[in-house]
Amino acid sequence: MPILSAVEPLRHAFTLRGADPARVLTQALGLPAPIRSLRQVHGARVQRVGPEPFPEGLEGDALITNVAGVPLAIAVADCVPVLICDPATRAIAAVHAGWRGTVAGVLGAAIRALHAAYGSDPAGMRLAMGPAIGPCCFEVGDEVVDALLRSDTGATGCVRDGDRPHIDLRSALARQARAAGVPETGIEASDLCTACRGDLLESYRRGRGRAGRMLGLIAWRS
Ligand SMILES: [Zn+2]
Repeated sequence: MPILSAVEPLRHAFTLRGADPARVLTQALGLPAPIRSLRQVHGARVQRVGPEPFPEGLEGDALITNVAGVPLAIAVADCVPVLICDPATRAIAAVHAGWRGTVAGVLGAAIRALHAAYGSDPAGMRLAMGPAIGPCCFEVGDEVVDALLRSDTGATGCVRDGDRPHIDLRSALARQARAAGVPETGIEASDLCTACRGDLLESYRRGRGRAGRMLGLIAWRS
């Protein structure tokens, strides 16, 4: 997305349905393998990645690093993939945020972790949200609306009432990023809906639980 493409030598991608992540990494982005990824659990734990080999199966929903040539990845199929960079400190993050992670505050946690680990100022961060289930299709139960509004009482505008409520996760996450200090001008969001665009994207909900995964990928070229 433009807000990240403008930063050199940053590389990023949101993969589409059927894409081979290793191919995207090496051919489209010119980055070395392996990808650093987590066992995602819809929580708010942030894991810091250094130059040393990264353990398999580590739990968490956000990765941060400032090491060049280390690709961070999170996997999604309706949840929101969020990629962040701070050009000033060369710090980056990849965040997985479904409704549970949003309510748990995973995006705010990642932004604060970038500050704590690398001294990154949220005011200089650039943040891109990729394709995810949109407010058109993300029908939820009242308990999800309650949980969202308990975590952010100002998020009423992210709930669309109808026969059943629908939630706009990306606008809820934009609120969370702004509350953590990222300016409006540093935030960009795709409006592609995974459930509407079955031709392009994977959707857990549309596939009734059977879906491939797409990746959000980010790294500094070394
Ligand atoms: Zn939709």
